[in-house]
Amino acid sequence: MNCPDAREQFSALLNEHIGLTERIPLEAHLHQCEACQLELEALRISDRPRPPAWSPNLDFARKTLEALRPHDTLERLRQRVLPFARKALEALRLHDMLEKLRQRFLPFARTTLEALRPHDPLERLR
Ligand SMILES: [Zn+2]
Repeated sequence: MNCPDAREQFSALLNEHIGLTERIPLEAHLHQCEACQLELEALRISDRPRPPAWSPNLDFARKTLEALRPHDTLERLRQRVLPFARKALEALRLHDMLEKLRQRFLPFARTTLEALRPHDPLERLR
C-alpha cells in the first residue's frame, strides 16, 4: 500500500467503518510510514470535536404530535357521530323490521279483509 491509498482509508479508519481487508494493510503501512502517521494524527485531532451532523429534534416532533393529536380528534369525532349513527341504525333497523312485518302480514291481512267483507257494496245494490 502506498501513501495516497493509505490516506484514502483514513476517514474510514477514524469512523471505524473499515473492514479487516482494508485495515490490516493500512495499519501495516502506518507502522512503517511516519508521514502517514502524522497525517492520520492531524486528521484525528481535527476530526475529534465533531458535532453530530443531524440530531432528531424530539421536542419539536413531540409538540407537533401533541398539536395534531389524531387520537383526540378521532375520539371527539366518534363521540359526536356515534349517537347520530346509533339513532340512524336504530331507525333503519326499525324500518327494516316494520318492512319485514308488513311483508309477512300484508297478504294475510288482505285475505282476512277479503274474507271478512261479506257483502260487496255493488252486490248489495243489485
Ligand atoms: Zn504513507
